[in-house]
Amino acid sequence: MTLRRFFLVALSLLVLLLLLGAFESFRRPVETETVRHLVILYTNDVHGHLEKTKGGAGAAGIMARWDREMAGGSGRFLILDGGDMWTGPVLSTYFQGESTVEAMNTMGYDAAALGNHDFDFGLGALRQRARQAHFPFLAANVRDGDGNWPDFLRPFTVVEVNRVSVGILGLTTGELLTDTNPTAVEGLRLIPYELALRDAAAQARAAGAELLILIGHLCKSEAYRLAPLAAQEGIAVLGGGHCHEVVNDVVDGVLLVQSGSFWDGYLRIDLYFDKSTKQVADLRSVYVRNLPGRSDPRLEHLVARWRAALPPALNKAIGYLRRPVGRESAAMASLLTQAWLSAYPQAQIALANPRYIARPIPAGYLTPALWFDILPTNNSLLAVSLSGEQILALLEKHRPLYGGLVERNGQYLLENGAPLEPDVRYLVLLPQALYVHYDVRQFAPAMTSDTGIDWRQAVIDWLAAHPTSPTQPLDEILP
Ligand SMILES: [Zn+2]
Repeated sequence: MTLRRFFLVALSLLVLLLLLGAFESFRRPVETETVRHLVILYTNDVHGHLEKTKGGAGAAGIMARWDREMAGGSGRFLILDGGDMWTGPVLSTYFQGESTVEAMNTMGYDAAALGNHDFDFGLGALRQRARQAHFPFLAANVRDGDGNWPDFLRPFTVVEVNRVSVGILGLTTGELLTDTNPTAVEGLRLIPYELALRDAAAQARAAGAELLILIGHLCKSEAYRLAPLAAQEGIAVLGGGHCHEVVNDVVDGVLLVQSGSFWDGYLRIDLYFDKSTKQVADLRSVYVRNLPGRSDPRLEHLVARWRAALPPALNKAIGYLRRPVGRESAAMASLLTQAWLSAYPQAQIALANPRYIARPIPAGYLTPALWFDILPTNNSLLAVSLSGEQILALLEKHRPLYGGLVERNGQYLLENGAPLEPDVRYLVLLPQALYVHYDVRQFAPAMTSDTGIDWRQAVIDWLAAHPTSPTQPLDEILP
């Protein structure tokens, strides 16, 4: 090939590429009087991870990204969350979510679905968070005893974004009544997703919504199942949560999204809505990771202020661990149940469940603050009188962590070596959440009493009373 010919071929290729690029950008609708461009930023399961995590740069990191996204003006932006907002690290859990809601207010959230864990600190705390938040909590499928929506939530909200009236519908998880503090959800009931969704969609339309979006504390599998109904109802986007999954998929024309968890990332959704046809003209979405980079100073100050407000004693060492202890390990079972049984020695047996243990115990110095991360929910210990037979049924069905018992050749023995007798009654200690989750009420226990002992404080007290150090680590007294 001559040089001249080479340049001609290269030039034609370049022109072709430029044309293709131009074609691609022409395909993107242009905003007009009737075709309006909206940008949705979506998160879920942030769980109060205000500070940096292994996977993300925290609230200040994500805010710096959003500031850049909104550099041309924030008028077309809608910021939404799929629930489980504040149960997590001590910085959020200690303040029962107040620090997280202040951050979400600053970040400009427009609405959030309620997750099961948003009930963890009781209804009093949830009502305070609802009053504090500059955005509504949504869950159309929750009803109180009279069949009404409780005062701390709304089924939907309608907001005006870039001259489009957007109806945002909310759903909470069907696991709400079993996966939080049971006293907080006592008297509440759930109606089926489908019923709540149809009803809320009709009401939002009646209130003037042109475009519908659903935010639900719903796992991927549930979102896929609801997609055909969402399509029927004209819902364009279905944001999920609860299972900490990353989802960015289109099913039956409905965009399904989920951002993982902990502000480790978010979805940016570009939506062009044609007001004349009431149809979505174009919809694109991208998952953006919140990798370390710039940090928003307002959020940094906010987080530093809350950190300074933590009582200093929370960060005082109360023990030392040489190797990490897993959530489901014998060492975890032994530590929790020993601590609880020593706080309430009248009981012989104690039960725990890894489901309510948020993370393993890391190696190193142990502090009270760390126990807010590990056992983030509020639970008091209940003492329940159960027969040996009922205890065996619980052990077989739920495989909990247990203490006060040892298994030898398929037989359970008490600490004193006596076998667990089917007809004898024993006093069993378990957190409130397990009482509900295991449906212990079905056994009509001869006696149930709330000991008033906080499950987390009991462990902190036990560790403080059993000093350990790098030379005599906790590992030496755990199995
Ligand atoms: Zn959840």
